[in-house]
Amino acid sequence: MARDERSRRNISDDIPLARRSIPIRRPSQRELKLIALFSVLLIFSAIVISLNLFSRFKKSSLFELDTQSALSKDGRLLGHFPYPEALKEDLVEAYPGLQLHRDAYKALMRMASAASAQGINLILLSGYRSIDLQREIFYGLKSARNQIAIERAKVSAPPGYSEHSTGYAVDLGDAARRDTDFEVEFEQTRAFLWLRENAAKYHFVLSFPKGNLQKVSYEPWHWRFEGTVDALRQFDASNENRRRALEPSY
Ligand SMILES: [Zn+2]
Repeated sequence: MARDERSRRNISDDIPLARRSIPIRRPSQRELKLIALFSVLLIFSAIVISLNLFSRFKKSSLFELDTQSALSKDGRLLGHFPYPEALKEDLVEAYPGLQLHRDAYKALMRMASAASAQGINLILLSGYRSIDLQREIFYGLKSARNQIAIERAKVSAPPGYSEHSTGYAVDLGDAARRDTDFEVEFEQTRAFLWLRENAAKYHFVLSFPKGNLQKVSYEPWHWRFEGTVDALRQFDASNENRRRALEPSY
């Protein structure tokens, strides 16, 4: 064995070194600069291409909701019922950039002035949202927070499934407690306590109370107007769902 090894080594030692017929030439400064420039360009284009691919991947159906399989028997998507978009002619500007269905707006104004007479200033945080805007909110926030659709749907409805698109839903805040805007702590404000006692007189109903059957996160700030036949019809499926749950099952 030892001899074999030695003989192998000898063989490899015997291979003569290749002799260069052309002497090694170092690249010139100009060539080095060209190589550096070329590498930078190559890296840059690789980054551009991969970013492009990533954004296309993000937009692809992989990241969208698989709506067919997520739909429940009563037409809900991740707990939310489908809602149509309000007609443009029914919307009024409640505040700059904030629109509501005119019937909800009228009722809200009456409710806000009654609250204000008792020293409570209600703030309209959000009203009508187009399905396009809802899409931006839902997918925008979802990817920003790296949440999956089910998690996101607990706090924001998927596009086409938000009460806000009817123009009848409002998100309310307390002017004295802006720190509780869109927070569960809003339930501790004077505004919420007042709403709990008085909102029904103005036909406003809390859409997602604690432990709601739709399994949407508790939203003390989100109220919907049910004071007209049209408004009531919009929320019929949701109310039917509540009614059915109250019926005794045999
Ligand atoms: Zn809302």
